[in-house]
Amino acid sequence: MGRIEALRCRECGREYPVEPLHVCEFCFAPLEVVFDYDEIAKSISRARIEAGPRSIWRYSDLLPGGEKRVDLGAGLTPLVPAPRLGAELGLSDLWLKNDTANPTHSFKDRVVSVALTMAREFGFDTVGCASTGNLANATAAHAAAAGMRAFIFVPADLEVGKIVMTAIYGQTLVAVEGNYDEVNRLCAELAGTYDWAFVNVNVRPYYAEGSKTLAFEIAEQLGWQAPDHVIAPIASGSLLTKIKRGLDEFTRVGLIEKHPTRISGAQATGCAPVATAFKAGVDAIRPVKPAGIAKSLAIGNPADGYYAVKAVRETGGSMEDVSDEEIVEGIRLLARTEGIFAETAGGVVIAVLKKLAQAGVVRPEEKTVALITGDGLKTIEAVSAGSGPTFTIKPKTSEFEAKAAEMGVKP
Ligand SMILES: *Cc1c(COP(=O)(O)O)cnc(C)c1O
Ligand SMILES: [Zn+2]
Repeated sequence: MGRIEALRCRECGREYPVEPLHVCEFCFAPLEVVFDYDEIAKSISRARIEAGPRSIWRYSDLLPGGEKRVDLGAGLTPLVPAPRLGAELGLSDLWLKNDTANPTHSFKDRVVSVALTMAREFGFDTVGCASTGNLANATAAHAAAAGMRAFIFVPADLEVGKIVMTAIYGQTLVAVEGNYDEVNRLCAELAGTYDWAFVNVNVRPYYAEGSKTLAFEIAEQLGWQAPDHVIAPIASGSLLTKIKRGLDEFTRVGLIEKHPTRISGAQATGCAPVATAFKAGVDAIRPVKPAGIAKSLAIGNPADGYYAVKAVRETGGSMEDVSDEEIVEGIRLLARTEGIFAETAGGVVIAVLKKLAQAGVVRPEEKTVALITGDGLKTIEAVSAGSGPTFTIKPKTSEFEAKAAEMGVKP
């Protein structure tokens, strides 16, 4: 099982063997993977990582699994400077981590690659997942490539792009008449009766580690340094907490200097239980019924919400939520200024970045990285109104010239 020593309860610290387990029997808190960092620090190095595969598996020293990799090439996505968007928002050192460039066009390929690798090492031949869409795409594709069987459960009202992008891989796609939280509860129950690896239920501790690779890559791509500020979207809250863990681990094993990176969280107002708790200054997340266009972030009862609030408070970051109109505006702003077409979750991040920049929370000179976690082609209906041709003509030069002249453009 690679370099994992054990699983450990995040609350009481009790240790468990490296098995498909996810909650502590005593306090029902989530379990987390334990590594021996002193041992890892002896062999890990920048050079060794740079010489590794062009995927998340270049960081295999700090990931679960290893021998039976399920690798479609997730990770090592572009980290690009965003000078034009930065100029609009008054930020002089803004960067975008473009995770639309993953095999199934979202950051979920990272977590699924790790989850299915561990599922295979545990001897499972069948996997399952409860998904808001992107996890379904990633699980179906990775299962197909690994020759595994997959049962994928999604809310029935998902965007058509996400349904097609899952069904195409020939696995079993189950549409459930309910919201994500109901789908997730169903999967938790099924995990007790079917001997399958549910990527975000019984193998969740391993799955969650995949998100750290976003932080690893950002540090490597910035020339082996941590950024000043990261803006992360929140669904279950797992991704955000693992950004912190990833940077802490890189520091711990000596790959980067210690640096106080602030982490801020982004939610849609239609489903903002974590941002609401943060703003109210409380720890307890009060579940909500999700609404709005940001379906990939629509988790009303987020498993890691409490830990996301904690990570943001500890690092001195902030949280905000934005309306559907602001999300659409965020998608358009990003596309118009930087040439990246993001799904609604990306619109959430850009709109929240804008809000935090206006409030002075994101400071003008900070090296800030915004996470763009999914591709716009997945949620085309969010922007299809008002995204048509500028004009339509017959195939005649005179028609074009007339229209161009109206725009003040002459031959
Ligand atoms: C799943 C998802 C997230 C956030 O995931 P967490 O559950 O908070 O780890 C962010 N962006 C997109 C596009 C996603 O699909
Ligand atoms: Zn415990």
